[in-house]
Amino acid sequence: MKALTYQGPGAKAWSDIAKPVIDKPTDAIVRILHTTICGTDLHILKGDVPEVTKGTVLGHEGVGVVEAVGPAIRNFKPGDHVLISCITSCGSCPNCRRQMYSHCADGGWILGHTIDGTQAEYVRIPHADNSLYPVPAGADEEALVMLSDILPTGFEIGVLAGKVKPGDSVVIVGAGPVGMAALLTAQFYSPALLIMVDGDTNRLEVAQRFGATHVIDINTQNAVERIFELTQGVGVDVAIEAVGIAASFDTCQSVVAPGGSIANVGVHGKSVELHLEKLWIQNVTISTGLVNTNTTPMLMKTVQSGKVDASKLITHRFALNDILQAYEVFGNAAKEKAMKVILSQ
Ligand SMILES: [Zn+2]
Ligand SMILES: [Zn+2]
Repeated sequence: MKALTYQGPGAKAWSDIAKPVIDKPTDAIVRILHTTICGTDLHILKGDVPEVTKGTVLGHEGVGVVEAVGPAIRNFKPGDHVLISCITSCGSCPNCRRQMYSHCADGGWILGHTIDGTQAEYVRIPHADNSLYPVPAGADEEALVMLSDILPTGFEIGVLAGKVKPGDSVVIVGAGPVGMAALLTAQFYSPALLIMVDGDTNRLEVAQRFGATHVIDINTQNAVERIFELTQGVGVDVAIEAVGIAASFDTCQSVVAPGGSIANVGVHGKSVELHLEKLWIQNVTISTGLVNTNTTPMLMKTVQSGKVDASKLITHRFALNDILQAYEVFGNAAKEKAMKVILSQ
């Protein structure tokens, strides 16, 4: 079969590799219908995630159809359409029992990381009973791909960890797909101010269409000054960091109000300076982490009902065979006005 493989820092290939087979009784083999490329895949390709070894198939998002199941699988059968979670979870280890699926003793983020992922014609899903979700009949299957990673990540690690409440002032630093997912799902709680900060004019326009009350272009405005202006000098109740660099974390710690929260969502490759000498007295909460995907069934209902229109995050569509071209587009997101690219077969 064909698959997008990591070939060491800066290198990838659309390779011919062996089709996966059932290895453990709890496995399922899924034929991919739709997958996508994540910012994390670009981090891997840069060499930022050294535990990914040469030859690994990238990708941790997708919707597909079950091709085969191991003898222990009870929830799925061949022919079922399924959503693949970016988090694999056994459902029975101590961390899974407390819904910390991202830290499953035999799972967590492994797809396209420590085992072969979803940017392929077929993928092997370990612990399939707990790591796949049935696709509701009549669902927009492309839109559901947004539930593999970005919607639960923006919601759980941004909105829920940041404790967004009605009437809150919220700033999201970073208008990429996960920042947009936080923007869409923060609106469940009716914040009064929903400010998006970025340096990409197109993404800021999109954020406004998606419900941001204010946008700040860091190329022309001082984000910190503008946020204090918008909050009458108080700062924000919730600052969501959705970039993963020191400057954006610094914006968050500069603008959080006393009693507020900083929710870090960004994947950081370098250390940041934590200004505890200013923050220690401010009664703030700082949270960070990897998505557990325990809100996926709830989010699926909001997408199904139209409360969240996940399909509007999709800007480009390609055949799976044209994945190298899709990487080109996603890698030049600003120029191409790309948010999420969908690959289908
Ligand atoms: Zn991802
Ligand atoms: Zn587990």
